[in-house]
Amino acid sequence: MGFIDEHSLSWQSLLEALPDGTALLDARGVMMYVNSELSLLTGYSREELVGHNVQMLVPPQLRTLAARREYTRGPDSRMIWNDGDLKVLMKDGTQRLVDFALSPITLDGRRWAVGSIRDNSAQRTAEQARLEAEQHFRLAFEDNMAPMVFTDLQDFVITANDAFCQMIGRTREELIGFDSKPFTHPDDVGITEASHERFLHDEIRQIRYVKRYLHKDGRMIIAEVSKSPARDKLGNTVYFIISERDITEERTLTAKLSHQALHDPLTGLANRTLFDDRLSQTHSRIMRQGGYGALMLFDLDDFKGVNDTYGHIIGDQVLIQVARRLETVSRAADTLCRFGGDEFLYLAEGISGLEEAESIAERFLRALDAPFEISSLNLEQRASLGVVVWDISSIDITDVVRDADVALYEAKRLGKGRHFVYVPGMHHQVINRFSLVQQLRQAIPAGEVAMHFQPIVRLSTTEIVGFEALMRWRHPERGWVPPAVFIPLAEQSDLILELGRFALHHSITAASKWTNGGDALTEPYVTVNLSSRQFYDPGLLGLVREELATSGLPGDRLIIEITESIALEEVSGTMKLIEELTSLGIGVALDDFGTGYSSFSYLNLLNPMIIKIDQSFVRPSIESIHSDRLLETLVSLGHNLGMTLLAEGIETQAQLDRLRSLHCSLGQGYLFSPAVPYDEAVKMVGQTFNV
Ligand code: C2E
Ligand code: CA
Ligand code: CA
Repeated sequence: MGFIDEHSLSWQSLLEALPDGTALLDARGVMMYVNSELSLLTGYSREELVGHNVQMLVPPQLRTLAARREYTRGPDSRMIWNDGDLKVLMKDGTQRLVDFALSPITLDGRRWAVGSIRDNSAQRTAEQARLEAEQHFRLAFEDNMAPMVFTDLQDFVITANDAFCQMIGRTREELIGFDSKPFTHPDDVGITEASHERFLHDEIRQIRYVKRYLHKDGRMIIAEVSKSPARDKLGNTVYFIISERDITEERTLTAKLSHQALHDPLTGLANRTLFDDRLSQTHSRIMRQGGYGALMLFDLDDFKGVNDTYGHIIGDQVLIQVARRLETVSRAADTLCRFGGDEFLYLAEGISGLEEAESIAERFLRALDAPFEISSLNLEQRASLGVVVWDISSIDITDVVRDADVALYEAKRLGKGRHFVYVPGMHHQVINRFSLVQQLRQAIPAGEVAMHFQPIVRLSTTEIVGFEALMRWRHPERGWVPPAVFIPLAEQSDLILELGRFALHHSITAASKWTNGGDALTEPYVTVNLSSRQFYDPGLLGLVREELATSGLPGDRLIIEITESIALEEVSGTMKLIEELTSLGIGVALDDFGTGYSSFSYLNLLNPMIIKIDQSFVRPSIESIHSDRLLETLVSLGHNLGMTLLAEGIETQAQLDRLRSLHCSLGQGYLFSPAVPYDEAVKMVGQTFNV
């Protein structure tokens, strides 16, 4: 093989063979020859290129740069531009990214230059794609609103975005390269490990779970985690891509909402829905495992009075404080619930039997012993309690609340402030208070209601100066139902007005028949209790006037008893009523004095004829609560205001002696006589007692 003949290898054919678009240029840049690749690349025909300056292929923005160049005078070495945005201007006016090389050559003793361009747009597109991917990643990761973190197989942080840093209150510097454990909730460290295990063993692409973090400020952050493994070509997991959602607020809200759905907003105690649920759970546990359950129904005694006297804001405070007290004596596993109004339910589980249930009940009642301090008021608030105890032998619990209600009714009937245990079958004899209201409506027409009269005595002489009219209901099956039970029931409807009219009519009629042998001055008066509904009844005064007129009883032999709480509820109204009654000669007695947390300054305003000191100041069993000194104070206060003092509930000689020594002028109580039917009362007129 010899050398190739120089002429047989023309430079034209060489240029033609090059893969790049190539031109032979003279010193000024005029294209002397172009290969077909160049015309292909630029869209010009050879004829359109040859003889023209290469400037025609240079885009305007690059021309100044190219114009200064003397193409053949470059350094001997080849010059290559492949990094910039070098572009060629094509015939159609578009520009195309190219790499460019310029090599000076000597041909036939003259200096030329060979310029070649190579379309690199494919390569550029790849580069562009890389840049875009990077940008996308930045968008998808760095700037993502969702907290994101990459961790390695040991759960060390590789990188984290701003949102993640913000979520857990730590900077990137505090995170990258560090173990995740210190900011993971201790109880959830295991979750991370378990998730890694699943990726290692299963072909899972993504798993989701909820994980708790610890914010730098100590708060607990709850996050919903979506975790995917990044795998290499061989399928080995190299790191984890974790995207999260902070659901702390959501969770707290849901927790709050579900709390709201199941709790009483005022006291925060369980509501009926939650209670019903607990009750059926407890019951099924007892059915499975045996043991006893107890249900207690509380009803606050005379709570309506608190609401009426002080308004609902104070009433609400009482309910809240009662709830707190009951809570302090509740057992952790039991459920205390506000049943509505002033009623509470308590569900005790796993008790040893009746005795324990009763001791729990007593503990609750004692918890209410101390007065409640509410905005400088000192309120007494007790409760009555109905108790039901059941075990595996009680198949049906659907009636358990009704049974507790029946027992509660008994507790009230027996004098309030106490508990009563339901006796199975009791509801057959005892009618609950709901049906009681129905029966009470029938009671007046059926002649079951009557007025009884308790003598009021001048303590110094024991002569009878009057009678207090007290209502009695003789229930056909239950016997005597005390007014403390049925008056509050009647007060919930207009029934009380009917009972009030009954009381006025029969009391006034009775008094009109009591005579003291013609001595009009010493004929006994009658005192009639007024409920708050009657007090607000505009027809009251007309009714009283009418009754007095038909019976012929002089106004000064009628005394209206108004409880302190009613009187203080609406002082100006009370003053007006007292004035009007006084103008008819009728006296007013302030009933239950001392229980109403009275502001003594009102006493002077109301100026009642008689102040009735509540029995709790007189009876020894309650002496510890209302001290002797208080009784003394009340009596001397009344004296100073020029009012007549009447002590209620005198039961013993000792009490009488003490009241006499305090110069309390009037009294009533079992020591003298209980309330008696009209016929007996008539016989007592003119009598004295031997005490
Ligand atoms: P109250 O006005 O404070 O009546 C006094 C209550 O004390 C009466 O109870 C009376 O029987 C009782 N009592 C009298 N002496 C003694 C005693 O020495 N010891 C004890 N432990 N208690 C004694 P009662 O008759 O059960 O009446 C309870 C309440 O029912 C009355 O309290 C009154 O607020 C209301 N009430 C009774 N009758 C009527 C009525 O006709 N109309 C209205 N609106 N209320 C009435
Ligand atoms: Ca009274
Ligand atoms: Ca009273």
